[in-house]
Amino acid sequence: MREELLSNPVFSMAVAQFDRVADFLELEPGIRERCKWPKRIITVTVPIRRDDGHTEVFFGHRVQHHLTRGPVKGGLRYHPSVEVGEVAALAMWMNWKCALMDLPYGGGKGGIACDPGKMSIGELERITRRYTMEMIPFIGPEIDVMAPDMGTNEQTMAWITDTYSTHHGHLVPSIVTGKPLTLQGSAGRTQATGHGVAFLASGALVKLGIESKDATAIVQGFGNVGMYAAATLSSYGVKIIGISDVSGALWNSDGIDIKKLRSFAEKHRTIEGFSGAAAIDPAEMLIRECDILAPCAVGHVITGTNAASIKCKILAEGANGPTTPEADLIIEQRDDIFVIPDILCNAGGVTVSYFEWVQNLQRFQWTEREVITKLETKLHTAFEQVVGFAKRNKIPHRMAAQAIAIKTVADAKTASGLFP
Ligand code: NAD
Repeated sequence: MREELLSNPVFSMAVAQFDRVADFLELEPGIRERCKWPKRIITVTVPIRRDDGHTEVFFGHRVQHHLTRGPVKGGLRYHPSVEVGEVAALAMWMNWKCALMDLPYGGGKGGIACDPGKMSIGELERITRRYTMEMIPFIGPEIDVMAPDMGTNEQTMAWITDTYSTHHGHLVPSIVTGKPLTLQGSAGRTQATGHGVAFLASGALVKLGIESKDATAIVQGFGNVGMYAAATLSSYGVKIIGISDVSGALWNSDGIDIKKLRSFAEKHRTIEGFSGAAAIDPAEMLIRECDILAPCAVGHVITGTNAASIKCKILAEGANGPTTPEADLIIEQRDDIFVIPDILCNAGGVTVSYFEWVQNLQRFQWTEREVITKLETKLHTAFEQVVGFAKRNKIPHRMAAQAIAIKTVADAKTASGLFP
């Protein structure tokens, strides 16, 4: 299994990052091994009846990186390329994100190798319910709490809740997060990640002595994360001069009206054709001058090719893995960009997922204001920790964030001891 995992390039990348930080922390070899490998890897077959009457068997996975600090927490994705090594890497990264935010969780991730775009709503419901049944011995509010990810959504979470609850004979809302509000989802969850990106970017502006009203931002992506990041930055007085989505990029040096763009995008399902800004080349947009550059779309967009040319003061990583390792080295050497690494920058989502779980366990609903206030407190604490740790140890913010997270897990494992 060790070799199988390591033959996956994404898992090897996660391990390379882990090893670098473990060397820096001088982790004792036994603890190092325990922190590196996943606690449980579960693979199940998921047979379902397709709409045309034939039976098809899919493969589903769930990786629970560790349970030392509480249940594992992480998304469930439906995508044809889902593969156990990648799921294990994503579980390890979730583990770091939860530890950095001091959430009482280990990291988890799951997925089914299927193409949700080619499945009917009935087929999606059947695959979700069957996967949940197969997972019942391994999940629970105190063991493993799933959430939406690529190809899944609040409807998927509603079906999981219903299947799990039916099995137990009563409603168990704390089995997943990212549920619809009518099934005890949390106020504030939809905007949490984008709000967090903007909140942390404004914290970085303060560190650099730049006032929000004098600042400019470029945001890549106008989906859940990008739209709320742009809207919140705009509400702080930051001028959004560039925005892109998969259809192209928009530019207006006087500032783009985000409310109008949002209404336009809701109507047309794209930002293409919006009259309040000029169309520009999306690749060029990333290297134009601005105070905040917030990649909030896909991974691997700041690369070895464009990293030397970007002209932002703050890089706020809303997406997962937007900066490649080669780009990271270039940015480290430049030393003129304040990086807010992804595991911190987009942690607003998992933090409000945690709040949803807490509310479900308490059978008590918080207001949106309460949720956002608590979110900002947690983000502020983690941000100051990362910046302080990086400064004291003269290391980049990304490495500082990973080091705080891995040390938190290592300390918990050391304190619990090794079961004889
Ligand atoms: P989404 O599907 O709602 O939106 C993605 C946006 O990116 C869309 O506007 C799409 O048009 C745009 N896009 C796609 N390819 C593009 C490209 N090549 N150039 C420019 N724009 C492009 O997704 P989301 O939920 O906003 O997630 C965005 C990123 O944030 C992903 O990396 C995701 O893993 C990460 N993330 C999301 C959350 C969350 O709570 N939604 C939490 C943590 C991390």
